[in-house]
Amino acid sequence: MNNQLLEQRRQQATPRGVGVMCDFYAERADNAEIWDVEGKRYIDFAAGIAVLNTGHRHPRLVQAMQQQLEKFTHTAYQIVPYAGYVELAEAINQRAPGAGQKKTAFFTTGAEAVENAVKIARAATGRSGVIAFSGAFHGRTMMGMALTGKVVPYKVGFGPFPGEVFHVPFPQALHGVSVEDSLQALAQLFKCDIDPRRVAAIIFEPVQGEGGFNVAPAAFVEALRAICDEHGILLIADEVQTGFGRTGKLFAMEHYRVAPDLITMAKSLAGGMPLSGLVGRAEVMDAPAPGGLGGTYAGNPLAVASALAVLEVLEAEDLPARGAALGRRLMDRLEALKPRVPQIAQVRGLGAMVAVEFCNPDGSPDAAFTREVQARALAQGLLLLSCGVHGNVIRFLFPLTIGDAVFEQGIDILAAALCG
Ligand code: PMP
Repeated sequence: MNNQLLEQRRQQATPRGVGVMCDFYAERADNAEIWDVEGKRYIDFAAGIAVLNTGHRHPRLVQAMQQQLEKFTHTAYQIVPYAGYVELAEAINQRAPGAGQKKTAFFTTGAEAVENAVKIARAATGRSGVIAFSGAFHGRTMMGMALTGKVVPYKVGFGPFPGEVFHVPFPQALHGVSVEDSLQALAQLFKCDIDPRRVAAIIFEPVQGEGGFNVAPAAFVEALRAICDEHGILLIADEVQTGFGRTGKLFAMEHYRVAPDLITMAKSLAGGMPLSGLVGRAEVMDAPAPGGLGGTYAGNPLAVASALAVLEVLEAEDLPARGAALGRRLMDRLEALKPRVPQIAQVRGLGAMVAVEFCNPDGSPDAAFTREVQARALAQGLLLLSCGVHGNVIRFLFPLTIGDAVFEQGIDILAAALCG
């Protein structure tokens, strides 16, 4: 097998809409490294888009899944339940931020967790409106697309979308949007477009993922909480990308003084197995009637076994703290490169969720330089992902389990790519 032949076959066999970033094909992977079918090795700073906080094939996850494989792989939880699902729900209820009793339901994808958050918010409030933010990404399903605050490529040609969804600018100091600007836009929305008493939920990412790793300022999150409380609106934190140790805490919302009513999670929850979840206040989660929630594969036993092992590994290896330490090291290196790389407009992040934004001298986004850096790094064997509404941000999603030597090697390749 070689990459070129596979690439030709892919183009014939699969639609272009499933865009693929790399032109090489994975053969095997271990912790923070991937080897392609021709034996070339890559350092993985993409981690399957934030899925592998515990690395590729962590021995504890492999063992947990092997043990589950020997027992059963599918019963459909809603037909014949199993203990792992309940155990994982208990573990998440115990760890999710916020006071009071909580309940958790499992699904398969991040988009599905978002869909269900909106379903539950509507059932619990009897209201229909949902407010999201510009630059947000919430998935590729119909409601996910409606909530997503970026048109190209996610929404082009796919409408009409579900109604009663509104967008407000997300604070982004670098581009002149202050917390006050965002809150004023929200106030304006309540005046011009929808009565706050008809709004079921406000959904936001504590750190926007696809939107550019924009960290929600504390004052903004606290204001959202106060506005929700004032109007009886539910606050949904979409932690699909920020969750499971990526920001230095299990949930990014632990960095804030206020708690949301519902939290979506997916990606690193099961360390590479398809599993998503929704945790929330028990009375809110219980709003839909039996049969209203679920899915054939929702809470698959192999994925649940993997997720239980993820929690164990995160805690035993203190991975959120290790990720935060690695994130600081990376930010320091990037800051130190600023004098040599004038395109660096900002280095930002929370814990290991670090990004660097590139701009032209006039402050406009520099997507061309971003693509160049990404291509140069890839040629040297480092996998980097971009993000941002203007495609001018590189985000770093290395596994939190990455060894020091591989991490340093990755950063050296990055530095060389940045300096041309
Ligand atoms: N919400 C956020 C914040 C995400 O980052 C993503 C995926 N990038 C999703 C939802 C959708 O998740 P999935 O691709 O698993 O449907």
